[in-house]
Formats: sequence, structure tokens, C-alpha cells
Amino acid sequence: MRASPALQEADIVVVGSGPNGLVLANYLARAGLEVAVVESARTIGGGLSTEEITLPLFKHNLHAFFMRWTPNYRLWTDLELDSTGVRMILPERQNALPTSNGRVLIAYNDAERTKQSIAKFDTEDAESFAALLGDSERLSAAIIEPMRFAPPLAADERNVLLSTSAEGRRFQQLSAMSALDVVKENFRSEEMRALVLFTAALRGYLPVLDVPGTGYVVAQAIAGLINCRIVEGGSHQLALALAAQLYDHGGTIQTNNGVAEVTVVEGRATGVVLTDGSRVRARRAVVSNVPAPLTLLDMVGRNHLDPSVVSALESYSWNGEALFGAHLALDGPPSFGDRERGIEALNLCLGYESSADVERDLAEVRSGGIPSIAALHASVPTMNDPTQAPTGKHVAFGWQFVPSRPEGHDSSWWSEEQSNKQRDAMVDTWVRFAPNVADLELARAAHSPLDTQLAVPSMWLGDRHHGSYHPANSYELRPAPGLADYRTPIDGLYLCGSSNHPGGSVNGIPGYNAAGVVARDLGIEQWWNPPDIRSHLRSLG
Ligand SMILES: Cc1cc2nc3c(=O)[nH]c(=O)nc-3n(C[C@H](O)[C@H](O)[C@H](O)COP(=O)(O)OP(=O)(O)OC[C@H]3O[C@@H](n4cnc5c(N)ncnc54)[C@H](O)[C@@H]3O)c2cc1C
Repeated sequence: MRASPALQEADIVVVGSGPNGLVLANYLARAGLEVAVVESARTIGGGLSTEEITLPLFKHNLHAFFMRWTPNYRLWTDLELDSTGVRMILPERQNALPTSNGRVLIAYNDAERTKQSIAKFDTEDAESFAALLGDSERLSAAIIEPMRFAPPLAADERNVLLSTSAEGRRFQQLSAMSALDVVKENFRSEEMRALVLFTAALRGYLPVLDVPGTGYVVAQAIAGLINCRIVEGGSHQLALALAAQLYDHGGTIQTNNGVAEVTVVEGRATGVVLTDGSRVRARRAVVSNVPAPLTLLDMVGRNHLDPSVVSALESYSWNGEALFGAHLALDGPPSFGDRERGIEALNLCLGYESSADVERDLAEVRSGGIPSIAALHASVPTMNDPTQAPTGKHVAFGWQFVPSRPEGHDSSWWSEEQSNKQRDAMVDTWVRFAPNVADLELARAAHSPLDTQLAVPSMWLGDRHHGSYHPANSYELRPAPGLADYRTPIDGLYLCGSSNHPGGSVNGIPGYNAAGVVARDLGIEQWWNPPDIRSHLRSLG
């Protein structure tokens, strides 16, 4: 790996080194452009952070934890990540939902075993799972992934193209419903309903689970039940691998010096001013990994924008929901006691046993209240990757859905006292399911939505996906009409973060799609092979 000093001038200046910024920087650097990434935080990676916030050597993934990057993922092979030594782990036990009567619903990394586990709760649900999984695999390959890996088509054109194939029509049928209705229509057991809804909620869909137009997420949630991976050594290792590949292609990264202003001269972005007052000139383009409202309203400034753009961004649809994290350092492995094995599962669903439990969270979070019951997404990462703690020790965490801005407050409401109270309620839930946690605990730490915003300012109010997944903020409407193709009203200024299609999670796709748009606009040959979405959808008919 070769690293160079930070540049004062480059072809492309990338604002932010989140997964999408790093992906875009890599594609453009390999296209022969000189790329300079500038980052406000002390470390690179945005949501890919792993920190020792409880005790030294105990690694905590404060934001992204599980991902779907496989060794044949398009970005993995294009960017030759294998050569960096980064490794993804696919745990055998993927998702587990322990019930209050001592049973555990488990999804394995094997469809047949998962079906058998579901059959213990409801035999018809086991058949529905198999059918929906088949559906999701077909739809993912034919429709969902190709549409994610391309700038969004306008609704009319998309619908016409989708209607020409059986897969497209099935996707439209699912999409027309709400996620809640799809789940209730397909599953009878409350445990299975809770697990699937909860998985969809974790993907950022909690506030819109009951909104028609979100049903497609159930296909993604079903597939996600059996194929979650984690990065060996912690999520930050993936950021380091992307950075190493960028360095090898001449890119530079400057941290701890964020962008205060994107300079605009005669309607064209010419570079950035950093918080220390220094400047980086952009010869060809500036690309921002930061959400559209923050990029355009704060860094560019309203005076450079049409009032209609200002007004659309001022009323931007943030998600309103965030994850509160409670992190534990443990002296040994936690146990569910006499229950069937399950604690080793990568993702634990603690405290949700019915669709009503998820709907209760939905209603409480939507109305700005902290959920009255501390139900958790939880995990013991060291069960599947012992390198994340000293030998024999463990790290564990819980996430709880909370409103990013509790009713009547701003995010500063998350004071240390409030955060500790929330953290302790969540640890109590851990102890309820795994009583030995009380004896094993060495240290505990809280990570509130405010902590998320302070660590990763692009996740404004802790919004991990840079915006809501309401249908009115999806596809060609994300982040606003006219900004969905990664271009902005300012010449030479582009968006590459999760506030654009297809949204958040560590998938790198907004970065990939934006790289294609920038390359086309600059007349640079694309060395990679993006799908042509129109001809692909036509070919299915
Ligand atoms: C608690 C939590 C749990 C999560 N769990 C998962 C998970 O398990 N799996 C998953 O896939 N995703 C998860 N996510 C979501 C995931 O982390 C994000 O969706 C993803 O990181 C978004 O990537 P991005 O590149 O678009 O933006 P970001 O990761 O937000 O990166 C943007 C970068 O821009 C930088 N920046 C901001 N302002 C400036 C500025 N003015 N100048 C320079 N740089 C700036 C930020 O510091 C950051 O590095 C989770 C998030 C949270 C908060």
C-alpha cells in the first residue's frame, strides 16, 4: 500500500469517507482521476466504526455491524478487496428470537434448516418462508439488485418496464402493499411475524412499516434472515480495506478537517474550504457523501440555489427514528440458560414475540416517545469472531429503536444522565434473557443518537440511512425531485451518499451509481461494467 500526503488540488474532491465516499473514490481513482477525500472525523469510514468504548481491547461496532458483502459482490470483485486480506464471516446461526416460554426460533445460513426451525412454530409458515425465499431470490436477481445498481428511473417508465415481465409484476404486487400487510398475509405464527417485521424495521423501515409501497422490503428481509455477514476484526476493517485500495490507485485521504464550504463560482463547484480555513481545489468535480440537505443548504448555501430546491430540502424527510446502543464488555460468554442453543446467532431479537410488539414500537416512536418496553436487537459478536475481544472475553450490545428527537426536545435531550438511564434499561433486558450477564459484566457504555450525530455528522439526528424510506422519499424522489440522479443544480457538484437511491446501510451502491454518473459527465471511460437497467428490464419480458 502506498500513501501520499493530502492534496491541495485534485481532479475530484470527495466530501466524507463513509462507505459510499470510499467506494466512489476507488472507482474514479481506478479510472485514472486524481482523487482527494476529506473527512471531518478523526478516523475514516463513517458508519464503519469499531472503537474500544468500554475497556481497552474490547472492540465495539458503534454503527454498522452486519452486512451482505460476499466474495462475489460486484464491489468486492471490482475493487479486488480479497487482495487486502479483509475477510467476511458468515455465521451458521444467523437470527434467533427467544420467547418468554423458553423456545427459540432460529434462522440458519441454510434455507432447509431454517424451514425446519420455523416448522416447529407453524408448519404452514415454514412453507410460506420457503415460497417467499424463492420469490425473493428470483426478484433480487431479476429486479431488486439491478434496480439498486442503477440511477432510479422515473415512476412511469419504471412501472411500464416492470409490467412487461412476470418478475416485474410480482415486484409491483409486493410493492403496492405495506410491509406489515405482506407479513400478516404470509405468516400465521406471531413469532415469525415478529422476526420478519423486526428485520425490516432494522433496515430503517420501522416508521413506514404500515405504509403501502413498502411491501418489497419483506423480500429483502426474508433473504437477509439467512445471509448476514460480519467483518472479521470489526466493521472498521472494511473501511481500511477500501482506503488501502484507494491509496494504491493514487488517492489521498485527509481526516479531522471537515468541509465548511463548497466554493461555487458562476454556478460551478470549484473546490472546498475546510474547517481549518485551508482549501482544496477541484479541477473536475466535488462529490459529497453527506446528505443532500446538509451538502446544499449548509455547505453550498441557499444563495446559490433556486427557492424551490431550498424549500424541498428544508422539508426533507428524515427518518425520525434512530438506534440507541448499549455496549457491554463481558468476562465470559453469556447464556440463555436451558433454552435451545441460540445465543450464538449473529442477530438476536430480544423482547419481540408478536407483530403487535413491533407495531407498539412503531406507534410509540412515531409519536415521539421512548418505547415503553426495552426490546432489543442484540448480539454477542465475539461468539462468531473471537478477535473482537481479548481471549476468553466477550463483547455484546443491544440496539433499541428510539425517536431521534423525543417529543418536545431536540437531540441534546440525550444527556449523559438520560443516556445512562436508557442504557441500564436495555442491559436489564439482556439480563432477563441471559441472566449470567449480570455476573459477567466488566463495563457498560451508552451510544445515543446524539453520540452518533457527533461521531458521524452525516447521520443527522442519528438518522443512519440519511433519510426516510417513505415512498415519497424513494427512487426518483430521493432526496428530492431533480436531485435523484446524483447531480445537483450546481455544475460539477454531485451527491454520492445514502440520501440518494437506493439509500443507506453499508452497501456502497449510491457511491457506485454516482461514480458512473460522474464518469459519464466527464467523458471518462468506465472500466467497470454497470448494468443497463432499461435493456435488462426489457429483456425479462
Ligand atoms: C447504530 C447504527 C447501526 C447500524 N447498523 C448497520 C448494520 O448493521 N448494517 C448496515 O449495513 N448498516 C448499518 N447502519 C447504517 C450504516 O452505517 C449507514 O447507512 C452507512 O454508513 C451510510 O453510508 P454513507 O457512506 O452513505 O454515509 P456515512 O457512513 O454517514 O459517511 C459519511 C461520512 O461523511 C463525513 N462527513 C460528514 N460531514 C462532513 C463534512 N462537513 N466534511 C467532511 N466529512 C463529513 C462523516 O464523518 C462520514 O465519515 C447502522 C447505523 C447506525 C447509526
